[in-house]
Amino acid sequence: MSQIEHHPTQETLLSYAAGSLPASLALVVGCHLQYCQQCRSGVSAGEALGAGLMVALSPQALSSRARESVLARLDEQGADEFIQEPKSVLVSRPQGSVPRLLQGLLQQDNLDALPWKRTIAPGLKQIVLNCGEGDVRLLRISAGKKMPVHSHGGSELTMILRGGYSDNVGKFNMGDVADLESSVEHQPMADSDEDCICLAGMDAPLVFKGWLARLIQPIVGM
Ligand SMILES: [Zn+2]
Repeated sequence: MSQIEHHPTQETLLSYAAGSLPASLALVVGCHLQYCQQCRSGVSAGEALGAGLMVALSPQALSSRARESVLARLDEQGADEFIQEPKSVLVSRPQGSVPRLLQGLLQQDNLDALPWKRTIAPGLKQIVLNCGEGDVRLLRISAGKKMPVHSHGGSELTMILRGGYSDNVGKFNMGDVADLESSVEHQPMADSDEDCICLAGMDAPLVFKGWLARLIQPIVGM
C-alpha cells in the first residue's frame, strides 16, 4: 500500500463542504474522498465550521454573547484551527477500481469497456460525461504520450484512476488529485508502462497554448 500525496486544496475542500462547488468539480472531490481519510476529515471539519457559523449568525438561536465569542474565536484563529495542513499519512489507494460515485454515472465499473473516443491529439482518448453542471470527462493518455500544453479557463480538478503521469507540478499516481488554478500551464506525460486514465472536472474549457493547438481545440472538442 502506498500513499496518496496530492490532495485538493483546503479552499476546495471547504467549498465542497459548503456545497458551493460546481457538480463537475464536486464529483472529482467526492471520488477522492472515498480513498482519502485525511480529506474526509477536512470536509467534516469544514461542515462543522459552517454549521457553527450558521448558529453564530442566527440571533434567535444564540445569545449575542455566545455569538460574539464564536465570531471572535474565528477571527483570532481563522479556519486553520479547523482545517489542518495536509500531512503525509498512509491511506489506501484505489487498486485500479472505479470510485463508487463514478460507477453510478458510468453505469459500470470496467474502464476498458467504455466507448473511448479518439481526439485529434495523438495518444489522447476521452469520454465526455454529463453531470449536469460544468465539464467532466475521462481522459486516457497512452503510455509514454504527452497531452498538448494547456492552461485552464477556470479551475481544474483531476484524479488519477489508473497509471500515473508527470508534469511540471509533480508526479501523480492513482488516487492523487491535481488541483490547479487557471494560471497553471502544464503538459502531463503518462508513465511509460501503462495508459494513464484520469477523471477531469473543469468549470471552464481548457486553454491550449500555441496557434496549432488553438486551431485544433474546436476539432478536439475540449
Ligand atoms: Zn486527500
